[in-house]
Amino acid sequence: MTFAATVLTLYPEMFPGPLGVSLAGRALGEEKWSMDAVQIRDFAADKHRTVDDTPAGGGAGMVLRVDVLAKAVDHARDSGVSTALDTNGEKARPVIALTPRGKPLTQQRVRELAAGPGVILLCGRFEGFDERIFEGRNVEEVSVGDIVLSGGECAALMLLDACIRLLPGVMGAALSGHEESFENGLLEYPHYTRPAEWEGRVIPEVLRSGDHAKIAEWRQRRSEDDTRLRRPDLWERHIGARV
Ligand code: SAH
Repeated sequence: MTFAATVLTLYPEMFPGPLGVSLAGRALGEEKWSMDAVQIRDFAADKHRTVDDTPAGGGAGMVLRVDVLAKAVDHARDSGVSTALDTNGEKARPVIALTPRGKPLTQQRVRELAAGPGVILLCGRFEGFDERIFEGRNVEEVSVGDIVLSGGECAALMLLDACIRLLPGVMGAALSGHEESFENGLLEYPHYTRPAEWEGRVIPEVLRSGDHAKIAEWRQRRSEDDTRLRRPDLWERHIGARV
């Protein structure tokens, strides 16, 4: 089964973009995942190919029309890449809209998505989506952080990048995916490499000791200390999960 990504966007030329190089690019070439960027404007009904309109209730900006969005979503679901059809018992791909109002993306959700048939991603522009699309088409709302982007495309690239590196055979050393930040609810410990001394700063002695038990202990402690200091939110959840 190939992880199939369909991105609904007003800027299909932004894809695969950065996902066309390095690990993700090689994996795309090797057909370990597939990418289809679909122009939302193709689903507009009028000859001007209008996709947006002014906000109900007034105010600045434009809102993406629910009827146009629905047609684009229906198209993506129907033309379901053969690996992802919900006929023949396969799970259907979830439809995810990128929006700052959505549920914050987590590594856990990324893992679930990467283990599935793929995703259909809906990228907003302007003020965003007509709210009715979410319930009307069973669309999950996901945010990539408490920041406001100018469009959903960079958020979609982030989500896909996070999924693709977890696909079987994509990351060289398969193990490196498991010790990382968030995988155990903590930030990862810090890394060092040669030179041993740089501008008077030295690599912590324990890492050069060759004592693997001590090293593991040091890493675990740094992982916990750094999480507590830098991300009290993660730390609280980690502590909560242990009791
Ligand atoms: N008016 C909206 C912001 C629109 S930004 C609001 O205040 O909530 C335009 C588009 O960029 C959005 O529709 C969304 O697709 C994308 N976007 C912006 N910030 C995002 C974020 N943090 N996560 C995911 N998508 C985001």
